[in-house]
Amino acid sequence: MSPREDRAAERAALVERMRGHGIADERVLAAIGEVPRERFVPADAAALAYEDAPLAIGLGQTISAPLIVAFSAAALQAGPDAHVLEIGTGSGYGAAVLARSHGSVVTVERHGELADRARAALADAGCDNVEVRTGDGFLGAADRAPFDGIVVTAMAEAEPPPALLEQLAPGAALVCPVGHGGRGVLMRYRDRRAEELVEVAFVPLVPGSP
Ligand code: SAH
Repeated sequence: MSPREDRAAERAALVERMRGHGIADERVLAAIGEVPRERFVPADAAALAYEDAPLAIGLGQTISAPLIVAFSAAALQAGPDAHVLEIGTGSGYGAAVLARSHGSVVTVERHGELADRARAALADAGCDNVEVRTGDGFLGAADRAPFDGIVVTAMAEAEPPPALLEQLAPGAALVCPVGHGGRGVLMRYRDRRAEELVEVAFVPLVPGSP
């Protein structure tokens, strides 16, 4: 078996583990089965790409565990043509999964170096429906709003940035971890209602660009 086929088998096994964890969104599962996560992790961690674990990507940041990426994407409950905003591009892997399962993605990262690397990895993975921006995710992307779903991949302290709620289309969901000290709850906000989904660990959402 070639190394490439080998990784496809690892992706298929990851998809089956996700089904076992209750992820049932077929478009998201198909995306997990297609996106080469090894291209979004540092070269020395490529062997670990299909473990269900976060991995360090430099600048004190992490690529989220695949299960939480899938869970957040599915929690949007958005359609195949949905226009989605992601805050916290990091490696670009989450954006790639959103791009494969939805219509278009705008993703915002405060570290220019990570945004540049993510842009290259997304191009390499053939994701041409993603716009990677360097900037402060607290502001969202007003010029591309409204969004049919918003995923925040860093932890807000008490509530999601107000600008993001304003950039949601009517009936659309914003999924955001909320908590302190790296641990908290993944929340879904829709039609001004807040819903607790699952306990999670995330790096903090930090205001401003460095
Ligand atoms: N979705 C990413 C996970 C990245 S971790 C992936 O799949 O790899 C969270 C990211 O959020 C980090 O890269 C961090 O730099 C970024 N971040 C934190 N605060 C931010 C802000 N205010 N605006 C934009 N990005 C932010």
